[in-house]
Amino acid sequence: MAEKIFEYKDENNWFIGKASFSNLISSFGETGREQELFLFGYLLDRLIASNYSDENHNKCAIIEVIAIQSDFALIQFACDILNELNQRQFKVLQHQGAILVTEGSKLFLAHLPSEGLETARFFGQEKGFAGIGDTILIATKNEGKTKEFRRFFERFGYQVENLNHYPDLPDVAETGMTFEENARLKAETIAALTGKMVLADDSGLKVDALGGLPGVWSARFAGADATDEQNNAKLLHELAMVFDIQDRSAQFHCTLVIAAPERESLVVEADWAGYIGMDLRGENGFGYDPLFLVGETGKTSAELALDEKNRISHRAQALEKLMEAFPKWQEQANA
Ligand code: IMP
Repeated sequence: MAEKIFEYKDENNWFIGKASFSNLISSFGETGREQELFLFGYLLDRLIASNYSDENHNKCAIIEVIAIQSDFALIQFACDILNELNQRQFKVLQHQGAILVTEGSKLFLAHLPSEGLETARFFGQEKGFAGIGDTILIATKNEGKTKEFRRFFERFGYQVENLNHYPDLPDVAETGMTFEENARLKAETIAALTGKMVLADDSGLKVDALGGLPGVWSARFAGADATDEQNNAKLLHELAMVFDIQDRSAQFHCTLVIAAPERESLVVEADWAGYIGMDLRGENGFGYDPLFLVGETGKTSAELALDEKNRISHRAQALEKLMEAFPKWQEQANA
């Protein structure tokens, strides 16, 4: 029977593997990490030795690395092969900057960054930090958004992290047709990859005269890499024939999803009602703020001070709902 070849390739990583008699990782191109990768193979032997007996000859993997940027991707690739060859259930997780391989409730391997890790961080003894279960990972790289959520979760005694702590995690494509689908996709995928409690949000603008558009396509209404200016120009164009302000009603929408491994996710959502103005006004905020007339105030959300917007916005209203729902959801987990 022909030997099966395994392959993983993305923009920054390219690995090819096949079954072998011992674990061997070697680099093929100019990775600059030849020695380190070679030693990686020995590390993988631990996984295989962990279930070795005479009747049970474990199969190993020989892997050629053509390009590598993510150690997480390489370990995931190796574990996928070893799982398939030996019917194992190795899972690869990120924890406080380390990459861990677990199977069931057991930890088999910890791969640390070459510059090392603060032990207090790894073991969770930083001030106010009480262990894996007491952190929440916000599925965003945006520090502004993280700050808003940190203020919220610190009240419940949670340590807050964001995706900048996990540079090796893959981007989760927002392929859903609803805000909830997209927020679930992000929260549940990242919770499964990291083993952590994860919060993801998805927000956007819904315009009644456009049947709810731009909706989940708000960020890319005028095209894949559209700027805020281009999106606003397209929105004004689409509404050019709608003259009565009452017919230009709209809502900013926000859905928040909290996911944790082996748990039903918590979902809350809120709408902030207003109208789409005839022209751009105000300097604050971002996105569609200069066009969004807040309720009956006649002011756009870009004319509100940031603090004021953060008190009444769709995100603020969704967080208010979360305030009520989150403690109950946590109680159910501990029941
Ligand atoms: P995200 O889901 O938070 O990334 O938001 C998607 C898009 O919705 C953004 O790129 C904005 O175009 C729009 N959006 C969401 N929230 C706001 C807001 O508070 N003001 C203005 N635009 C927003």
